[in-house]
Amino acid sequence: MPQRVALYDLTYDQLAQLLGDWGEPRFRADQVWRWLYQSLVEDFEEMSNLPRALRERLSSETDLSLLTVLGEQASPGGQTRKVLFGLRDGNTIESVLMQYADRRTVCVSTQVGCGMGCVFCATGQGGLVRNLSAGEIVAQVIHFARVSRSIEMEHAAGPGTKTPSHGQPIGNIVLMGMGEPLANYAATWQAIETLTDGRGYNLGARRITLSTVGLVPVIRRLAEERLPINLAVSLHAPDDELRNQLVPVNRRYPLADLMAAVREYVNKTGRRVTFEYALIEGVNDTLQSAQALAELLDGLLCHVNLIPLNPTPGSRLRPSQRERVNAFRDQLLEAGIAATVRMRRGIGIAAGCGQLRQRQAGIAQS
Ligand code: SF4
Repeated sequence: MPQRVALYDLTYDQLAQLLGDWGEPRFRADQVWRWLYQSLVEDFEEMSNLPRALRERLSSETDLSLLTVLGEQASPGGQTRKVLFGLRDGNTIESVLMQYADRRTVCVSTQVGCGMGCVFCATGQGGLVRNLSAGEIVAQVIHFARVSRSIEMEHAAGPGTKTPSHGQPIGNIVLMGMGEPLANYAATWQAIETLTDGRGYNLGARRITLSTVGLVPVIRRLAEERLPINLAVSLHAPDDELRNQLVPVNRRYPLADLMAAVREYVNKTGRRVTFEYALIEGVNDTLQSAQALAELLDGLLCHVNLIPLNPTPGSRLRPSQRERVNAFRDQLLEAGIAATVRMRRGIGIAAGCGQLRQRQAGIAQS
């Protein structure tokens, strides 16, 4: 039996084409799009302004459920929730909801596994299984938007509770979960266009951050796109010798090429770039490394996020101690480079990318 059409995989135009082929008037696409991305319905029966015959046809020929929740972990205060999703083909991915006082952010995956092989990363150790479809990326956000909406409804029912207030239940998206988004560019970009579409979810492009290890040709392509999303580059080392060891893709795109592409990106877009730098004890956290990093980024419109490494089970690499982290940051600040230390939210719930998936696999095998 052919697999049913996944509605979240369709662009607006593709949805309009499908409904047009079924003989439906053009305005039906608007109606269905709004049910999907504004009302966040889980069931075709909820699409109450559609004729019954159309709801039944949608129900028998299309699919709303690309993801199944297989496991969930929450931090003690519930601010961070990590979910393991099963896909229709039996593969698994994970996503994280992070709740702050003024916003909710979802960290989504773009691939099953990852082919980049970063040595400190649980996902990288397992290799790439396959790319996610646009719908599988979008559906992660929709899942947490529904969760977020029900949290807000619970809070609204309670006395005097302050909740994040913004247009969408999920106000920020970071493409920093499993996978390298620029290695799955078409699906990732389609997902971004779907989520920013003003007829539906209508998320501001500036609320989306895409993180890459540095696929140079695709960074150049990204600079040409019309949507002003934010770019984050996972750097983790200030020189080729060390970066070749930590982030193997550096052998294909060495730092000189990467930095040239990033400088072009900043010049073309006028947007500040973020550099992610995982601080690993005794590996990349010396003051010499900080100085080399400051020289590498000199004059560039950028910000550095320093993140003590999220330890991966089975790895010898450890996070830098607090004093070392602060000294590294201070060195950057003294050199005029904007830098912030980011806490590892959800470390107690295995929130490093690929860790929940890895743990679940371990449980399944034992
Ligand atoms: S850190 Fe990101 S790019 Fe590197 S292996 Fe892990 S998922 Fe892939």
